[in-house]
Amino acid sequence: MMLRKLSSALAEIFARSAAANPKIACFHCGERVRQRRVVQVVFDGVCRDVCCHGCAAILSTVEQLGQSEQYLALKQQLD
Ligand SMILES: [Zn+2]
Repeated sequence: MMLRKLSSALAEIFARSAAANPKIACFHCGERVRQRRVVQVVFDGVCRDVCCHGCAAILSTVEQLGQSEQYLALKQQLD
């Protein structure tokens, strides 16, 4: 009985936490990540949410190589 109450209380806490901290899809790879773990990077003049520093580095590299337009065109085809 006590265990059931504890389990129910924990489930409620997790549900509240998930609602207060929704997941966001990474701009580069689509991985869903909690909002508080999102890494932000400016790409093509816009602040983008990504899942990790690896994805941020890829976007920075693409921009430094002057390939932003091609990247966005390809991404649009794939989305
Ligand atoms: Zn990612």
